[in-house]
Amino acid sequence: MTNPASAQEYTIEAQRLVCPERWCASGAWLVQRAAQLSDVWQLTHATDGGVWNVAATEPVCPRCGTTLVTTLELEGGRGGGEIIQPGKLLDWLLTL
Ligand SMILES: [Zn+2]
Repeated sequence: MTNPASAQEYTIEAQRLVCPERWCASGAWLVQRAAQLSDVWQLTHATDGGVWNVAATEPVCPRCGTTLVTTLELEGGRGGGEIIQPGKLLDWLLTL
């Protein structure tokens, strides 16, 4: 007998997140929370397909340790402390 509720736990949608550090330039990651473990994230690099497992309360960049953000959060800036030129940001986002 199949339990629909438990089956849903395995349908975890990957979220596309990016590293906000320009010098890191790791680009976009497909992020999924590990099924059995809390606070463990599986990150698949959107470009080279490399897979990383990161243990943290929120998904962080495996290359520099910075908390990953959505592209919308990135466009909203980082707390107003840093202004990103719209043209350069747009060009960069298009390469992700
Ligand atoms: Zn990074």
